[in-house]
Amino acid sequence: MEIVLATSNEHKVKEINAIAQNYNIKFILPPSDFDPLENGTTFEENSYIKAKAAWEITHKWVLADDSGLCIDALNGAPGIYSARYAETPQKRIDRVLDELQGEETRTARFKCAMTLLSPNGDVAFSHTGICEGSIVEAQRGTNGFGYDPIFLLQNSTKTMAELSEDEKNNLSHRGKALKKVLEYLATK
Ligand code: IMP
Repeated sequence: MEIVLATSNEHKVKEINAIAQNYNIKFILPPSDFDPLENGTTFEENSYIKAKAAWEITHKWVLADDSGLCIDALNGAPGIYSARYAETPQKRIDRVLDELQGEETRTARFKCAMTLLSPNGDVAFSHTGICEGSIVEAQRGTNGFGYDPIFLLQNSTKTMAELSEDEKNNLSHRGKALKKVLEYLATK
């Protein structure tokens, strides 16, 4: 079974195909004119907007995800603005660490909203995966991407960037959401 992944990020297609390797499903990129306006106010809305945009140009099974980091002391920021919180990944990390300077409450969570559309354009399944943790005072680890070096996993001594790819996929927000989608697809 082939499913269009509503993203233009090839790395994401690889990561999701790695998680889905034991299922008979292949995720593929949408055509190059896929360029949705992500103007929703929640991860769930943006995930649906991306899914619908990819469905409109393919009319195939489509999976979209929208994810980000929500920090309690920042009232949920950067949230849906995670990718745009500063110019570069390192500047985004620096901004978060600056904003949390002197802050004792450092709890946070990664969220990933996934939306699966069937070839008739209806929502077949949706789920939001959550990964709980907190923000460390100084970044550590070199694996992963984005905010991984500052995200300390709950009940662990490791940041997300200190995990192997397999370890991360097993417990990440994206891994959890995708597992639910794959379980749903296995019933089809
Ligand atoms: P996207 O919507 O999934 O492309 O992700 C939006 C942004 O959230 C990314 O550019 C990252 O800054 C952040 N993000 C999402 N997932 C992760 C993750 O697993 N680790 C670190 N940062 C993440």
